[in-house]
Amino acid sequence: MDQAAKEKLVKALASTAIEHAEELTALDQAIGDGDHGLNLKRGFEAVLADLPGLAAKPLPELFKAMGMTMVMKVGGASGPLFGTFFMDLGKALPAEPSRADLVAATGKALAAVMARGKSEPGQKTLLDVLAPVQAVFEAGADGAALKAAAFAAADKTVPMLAIRGRASFLGERSVGHMDPGARSSSLLIAAAVDALGV
Ligand code: ADP
Ligand code: MG
Repeated sequence: MDQAAKEKLVKALASTAIEHAEELTALDQAIGDGDHGLNLKRGFEAVLADLPGLAAKPLPELFKAMGMTMVMKVGGASGPLFGTFFMDLGKALPAEPSRADLVAATGKALAAVMARGKSEPGQKTLLDVLAPVQAVFEAGADGAALKAAAFAAADKTVPMLAIRGRASFLGERSVGHMDPGARSSSLLIAAAVDALGV
């Protein structure tokens, strides 16, 4: 990946998070504390502040740096989770990854997020998008199929009962709303797919 492609990828991730901040905040108002959109916006604005510096780094270093910025700037429960995803992705990736390398690295990043959150799929969290998307990615899905899987998975969090994170405090009242982190994850996956042109 050349510098322009890396810049395009980071910009796409940041723009989608920033553009959807209000929507994500509204979702978090329903079953959380209403800061998810703002949290991600703050994190990705910090990422964008060093866009040329980031894009000049080899891919593993780029993701590690991005992950550290997310941990420091996003805050909340989701900052350390998204941060862990990107940091562990960076640790697992070679500089010029093949598709198989990427599948293996996202698998490791997903496992790290589960360990960090002490959570698993089925609890109405961002894992309910990351895990099924990883499964179809491993099975050979192309970009369109990855995006479809991500959006469908986020939709499936609507009827779920939250048993991790702030939404779990609501018990049965968490049912009937999409999980904010699931929605933001699906948007970030779609942005990555579009930017990479896969
Ligand atoms: P906070 O809940 O601290 O306000 P955010 O609003 O930024 O943080 O993020 C909330 C999102 O974080 C939830 O919608 C959910 O997807 C995700 N989340 C929270 N706790 C966990 C966890 N233990 N494991 C996985 N995801 C989690
Ligand atoms: Mg919140």
